[in-house]
Amino acid sequence: MIDAAKFTEFKVSGNLPSPEGSALKVLELCQRDNVTLPEIIQVMRVDPVMVGRVLKLANSAAFGRPRPAVALTPDILMSVGIQSVRQVVLAFSLISGNRQGRCPGFNYEAFWSHSAATGVATQLLGAATRAAPPAELFTVGLLSNIGRLALAALYPVRYGELLAQAGGQLSAALTALEMEDFGHTHLDIAAAMMQDWGLPKLFTDAVLFHETPELADFDAASRSYRLVRCLHLGARMTDNCFMPKQERGKEFFKLLPLAQTLGIANGDLAKLGDQMLREWIDWSTLLEIAAHEVAPFSTLDVTPESSVTVAQEALKHLTILVVDDDPTVRLLLQKLLTAAGHTVHVVGDGREGLAQAARCQPQVVITDLLMPHCNGFQLIQGLRQTELGRSIYIMVLTTIDDEVRLAKALDLGADDFITKPVEGKLLQARLKAGMQTFGEQQVLRHEHEELRRRLQELSIANQRAREAALTDDLTGLYNRRYAMERLAQEWAEAERSHRPLSVLMLDVDHFKQVNDQHGHDVGDAVLRQFADTLRRFSRAQDVTCRFGGEEFLVITTDTALDGALLLAERFRMAVERKALTATGISLHLTVSIGVAEKRVTHANIDQLIKAADDALYRAKHHGRNHVEAAA
Ligand code: GH3
Ligand code: MG
Ligand code: MG
Repeated sequence: MIDAAKFTEFKVSGNLPSPEGSALKVLELCQRDNVTLPEIIQVMRVDPVMVGRVLKLANSAAFGRPRPAVALTPDILMSVGIQSVRQVVLAFSLISGNRQGRCPGFNYEAFWSHSAATGVATQLLGAATRAAPPAELFTVGLLSNIGRLALAALYPVRYGELLAQAGGQLSAALTALEMEDFGHTHLDIAAAMMQDWGLPKLFTDAVLFHETPELADFDAASRSYRLVRCLHLGARMTDNCFMPKQERGKEFFKLLPLAQTLGIANGDLAKLGDQMLREWIDWSTLLEIAAHEVAPFSTLDVTPESSVTVAQEALKHLTILVVDDDPTVRLLLQKLLTAAGHTVHVVGDGREGLAQAARCQPQVVITDLLMPHCNGFQLIQGLRQTELGRSIYIMVLTTIDDEVRLAKALDLGADDFITKPVEGKLLQARLKAGMQTFGEQQVLRHEHEELRRRLQELSIANQRAREAALTDDLTGLYNRRYAMERLAQEWAEAERSHRPLSVLMLDVDHFKQVNDQHGHDVGDAVLRQFADTLRRFSRAQDVTCRFGGEEFLVITTDTALDGALLLAERFRMAVERKALTATGISLHLTVSIGVAEKRVTHANIDQLIKAADDALYRAKHHGRNHVEAAA
């Protein structure tokens, strides 16, 4: 989950979706131990719309009421349950406050429609498997994607861009992009929000793991296990309703085994789906959100395609990763292979190749051998060390006279080679032949849930390994290597978008004295606390790094000099005010900071850093505990 300081910052920003007005009052009231039902009713009556919705809930099939309730009485509230009322009030209030927003490409209407469908599906599945009380399940389903809404509110522009990259779909691919870009996913935020609203851990856990239930190690007999699978299946039933009809049957077929693990027989899932569609329409009317016509699940053609056809079809549409440092080769291969109907990803070196392979899960990798950073041999080795990598068909690009290197590549596990300059027809033929012998089984395996699980594990392991290599052991901040790589990326981004970019160089004043007077261990503890202060007072978009010893670099994207100076002043004051403590000793430190904005006169990141460094030097000269701007 997301760390508490970050979440507080999101909250304080006022951009997180949250309940308001009478809903908030009801929520607060329900949380009190000694609250009485008439008290709750009194507050709710102020808001007739809310009363109507709770009545609708009380009258829904789940409660099996003989006669419809027409007024809110303590009896009715009792039968629905205070916890359910609370959750339903929360959900409705969120919807009414977030029917639109500022994130381009985010379809707010469709979002709520999808969320309501997930709520209904999860509620029905939960009732069938007794995972939790139905009204609460509705809320969990409804809120399972709320983190997407939060990201769209927190980072409207950037999230709009990521959404576009993910083809406009709220998909697993988007979740991966969120992780890469923000360091947390919508699931982390949703779980933190739900926790903040006082929802039980059982539910936050379900949301956290519902996209990848295989990764949660709940005991198979536990309620958490059933709940996370209900939510997962509910979400996939909902996705199914948003697919083109011809794909729905095939996709629905894949859900049957999942339903079986929950004790739902094949025929029952379609019936349950049809009931979901009916209730979805009811809820959409109640919530005033658009509903679209969806053909009943019972009319879908669920005869699975024969596995041979699937394999042959799949061979025509491969996912291929091209790794070459030469842009012309990349472009040529991309054109050739895309024209042949394949999905092609291209990257410029082996390291990116490994990362991209974990992300796009290619069936084929075509790689050059000589590249900077991480060459083709290392890439082949890296791939063959992983479960995913062993199932990839690897072709290497060589020149005609390079037998020694080719032999080495084949030794390391490459499957085939093709000589440069690459000729389109030949490449196609080689690919086809190779894939026929090697491929069918492998392609089928890609369809397999088991493999999907391993892929996810791999990308998580990758992520962890990357994080470990990029952070500093003592402080947990990013290390110098990451700082430089990231700054280079942000530099390129700033050039492209013409947005400002600044850096802060910080150096603790007279730090040597701390070591000299109190010892190195105290020095270390103090550095850790200093890093915490930096983390606490930095903004969401700032990248805080330990640059060396007691020197720190903060990259402030999208920030011009004056903004960066403000931030620097904020750090300076925070450090000055905070007493740092270690083994009973309390110390007051100060910090000097040099600030520089990227200028046209800077040729590269080194010159930007140098400008900040020079300013830092002047800040020290000025008497320390001081912020100085680059000249
Ligand atoms: P000023 O920057 O204000 O000029 O004075 P200073 O005393 O901070 O200057 P200097 O850069 O000379 O000293 C930095 C000291 O930080 C030297 C080194 O022993 C100490 N240091 C660097 N890395 C670590 C570390 O990881 N742990 C501890 N405890 N000390 C460290
Ligand atoms: Mg110093
Ligand atoms: Mg120093």
